[in-house]
Amino acid sequence: MPSSTAPLTPPAAPGNEARAESSTEAADQERGLLRQLVDAVTDPILFTSLEGQVLIANARARQLFVADEGASEGHRRAVELNQRLFHTALLSSATGGAPPVRRRDLALVDPVEGTDLLFELVCTPAQEPGHPPGHVSVLRNVTALGRATQALGESYQRLRASEQEARSERLRLDLILDSVADPIVVTDPSGGTVLMNDPAERLFSAPSDSGEATRRRAHTNDANFSSFLSHLLAPSGARRWRAVLHLVDPATGAPLPMEAMASQVLSDQAEPTSIVTLLHDRTEALEKARLLEQLKSASTELEAKVHTATAELAEQNEKLRRQALQVEQASAAKSQFLANMSHEFRTPLNAILGYTSMLLQGVNGEMTPQQKRNLQRIDSNGRHLLQVINEILDITRIEAGRMPLNLTGFMLPELIQEVVAEMDPIIARTKLTVLTALAPEVPELQGDRQKVKQIVLNLLSNALKFTHEGSVQLSTAYDFATSTVSVSVKDSGIGIAPEHQEKVFEDFQQVDSSPTRAYGGTGLGLSICRRLATMMGGRVTVQSALGEGSTFTLHLPWRMRRS
Ligand code: ADP
Repeated sequence: MPSSTAPLTPPAAPGNEARAESSTEAADQERGLLRQLVDAVTDPILFTSLEGQVLIANARARQLFVADEGASEGHRRAVELNQRLFHTALLSSATGGAPPVRRRDLALVDPVEGTDLLFELVCTPAQEPGHPPGHVSVLRNVTALGRATQALGESYQRLRASEQEARSERLRLDLILDSVADPIVVTDPSGGTVLMNDPAERLFSAPSDSGEATRRRAHTNDANFSSFLSHLLAPSGARRWRAVLHLVDPATGAPLPMEAMASQVLSDQAEPTSIVTLLHDRTEALEKARLLEQLKSASTELEAKVHTATAELAEQNEKLRRQALQVEQASAAKSQFLANMSHEFRTPLNAILGYTSMLLQGVNGEMTPQQKRNLQRIDSNGRHLLQVINEILDITRIEAGRMPLNLTGFMLPELIQEVVAEMDPIIARTKLTVLTALAPEVPELQGDRQKVKQIVLNLLSNALKFTHEGSVQLSTAYDFATSTVSVSVKDSGIGIAPEHQEKVFEDFQQVDSSPTRAYGGTGLGLSICRRLATMMGGRVTVQSALGEGSTFTLHLPWRMRRS
């Protein structure tokens, strides 16, 4: 690398010496001028041979590519680096072929400052006749331009990034707005629409292909909305405004009562920047309110009806209560009357039966057979009447609660024997076999012996009455699980049809109640049996099949209690 610019003109031809001398001077002058000129250029300029050897370098180029004797180590290394970089750039420019002028960026180091420098290398081939071919390289300092370009690029990138951010922000906002089912409109402070979501779009703008009616309705909605907004647009207007807008569905014309809430968005300086309006469809709420109102009035009506019905019910209850009292009183009077009458009947009847018995025994002398038969009829009818009166008396006593229980301990086998013994005369008049099957495990009973006997007597008497042939069996049993004693009277008699099996326990009920019935009786026996059993905490049941016989069973707790 030369330390100064190399000679730029070729050497003078030999000949005339004086002319040659003056021409050499002129050439020297020209060269000196040229050197000054080149050195004055602030951009580095170099002339290099085709091999890359620097033949001429101006002052600025020398600063970059030449290190003085006393230069520091750093300076020297920077210069060496610059030389290498320049050399490499030069070679790649020179070997590139056409076009003749080549430009490329060349990064170098300032050997004094140590800072990075960026040059634009303009390399031009130089082919002067009579001179060795080479390249003229001019390096234009574009460091500041490069920095500015870089700064511009960075700020452009920043701009792009913030623009991207703003775009995605807007996209996000649009998505949010569109996902809200309620219409939302954002206007600028003068009322111009800035953005609206899809539901708002459907209200205020009609699609281009829609009919005249739809467009008109959308327009009416828009006018309504503008008049609503006017409350916030005036300089002294409200910051917030709420009202019900009576809009319509542009597509169908259906009314849409909308609650609109608008509020101004203020800048940091409290200047209005936009107005956000949220509309909410009140149709459903109004429908609900209407239904609620209907419900309320229906409920009031119902309440009034219930009130009236309750009052009527209370009146009815009172009536019933009074009637029940009257019935009770009447029943008590009836029972009293029957009890009195039965008693009144029994006394003379007993007298009649007593005198009849005396006459039959011949106290007043012998009677003719006819007289005796007649007297026997009086006796049997009298006894029947006495039985009827006794049964009526029993029922009235039970109903009036005047049938006391006399609880004692007794054994069932003795009681059964007594019953059979009492019925013996009647059994004797039949062709029936009467059997007893007494379970040994039956314990001593605690109860009203007289009433148990009365029930068993009645059941046996019925069995004998309604059985023409076969047998009647009395049996006892004990159920350990329930501590219940049972006495069954089973016959092979006429039986009872299923539809009559419950009725026979009611007062005065007989299967055959016709005047020409074959069997006597009052229809009170089983009714008395059931009432007495209930009094002792027990019950009477029947199992029967028509024509096959019946089994009546008295069930009693082992230890009876007053029910
Ligand atoms: P009564 O025997 O005085 O008619 P009950 O109350 O004892 O009254 O019986 C009512 C009716 O039940 C009888 O009239 C009869 O029709 C029917 N009944 C009772 N016991 C028997 C029986 N063992 N077999 C068939 N029918 C019976």
